[in-house]
Amino acid sequence: MIFDTLLLTPINMKIRIVTALPLTVFLLTTSVLLSLSYAADGKKAAKAHATGYTDTPFLPGGKWRVHDDNRPRPKVVTAGEKAGEAPSDALVLFDGSDLSQWKKQDGSEGEWIVKDGYMEVPSKKSGKGGYLFTKKEFGDIQLHIEWRTPAEAISNSQGRGNSGILLMGQYEVQVLDSYDNKTYADGQASSLYGWKPPLVNASRKSGEWQVYDIIFEAPKFDDAGKAIKKAYVTVFHNGVLTQHRQAYLGSTGHKSVAKYKKHPAKMSFKLQDHGNPMRYRNIWVRELDFSSND
Ligand code: MG
Repeated sequence: MIFDTLLLTPINMKIRIVTALPLTVFLLTTSVLLSLSYAADGKKAAKAHATGYTDTPFLPGGKWRVHDDNRPRPKVVTAGEKAGEAPSDALVLFDGSDLSQWKKQDGSEGEWIVKDGYMEVPSKKSGKGGYLFTKKEFGDIQLHIEWRTPAEAISNSQGRGNSGILLMGQYEVQVLDSYDNKTYADGQASSLYGWKPPLVNASRKSGEWQVYDIIFEAPKFDDAGKAIKKAYVTVFHNGVLTQHRQAYLGSTGHKSVAKYKKHPAKMSFKLQDHGNPMRYRNIWVRELDFSSND
């Protein structure tokens, strides 16, 4: 340092300035050029990214090219803010306030108990039970539904916390208290009753709220009444996959092998009153159009 200071004669200073000047000029120029090129790059990037192509090969079917710029973009759906909340295109079937979207089998108003944001199967004594049907009829749907078995686990097997979601009124996804409750495999929660057990048992404890997210594909029949396309269902139970595009054997029955019977393309779905005080809440449905991305 001392040596360095001693060397700071006017001549040395001049040498240093002469040496340092080109370096400073070089650095300044480089940084200006770099920032200019970034700006240019930014502009170029916006122009450079094509929104699609019109000269790529055709996909199978010959309708659209790969990355086709003319292919219709999907309609926008605003997702719920939190998981489980209805998206913008959903029909809310029960938001905790009333049964205006539901009816009894005879078409009269549903009479299940509505309380504290949930609906509950009334007791047999009240004479107000029975299956609850949606007023609207559906074909292919995505269904979100939350349910809760009684906190006190009374009885066993099919006698404990039993209900069911009967899609199109007849293709059941079983609802049951299947937490530490032995019953036949094709009758536990998330089974296709009398046909397919769930892939795993994802049940929560008695008295805890549980969730089904269901994708249902309605069957199709020919004029003779033969099912030319079966009904299919995918079920997530508490976020866990329990049925993966599983085909139904037919309309759900009890102690019988299910068979298909021709029915309309759209039908109500119903919630089962099996005599247990089961609760439901936050029910919404989206009608699906599987051809919307053809
Ligand atoms: Mg049931």
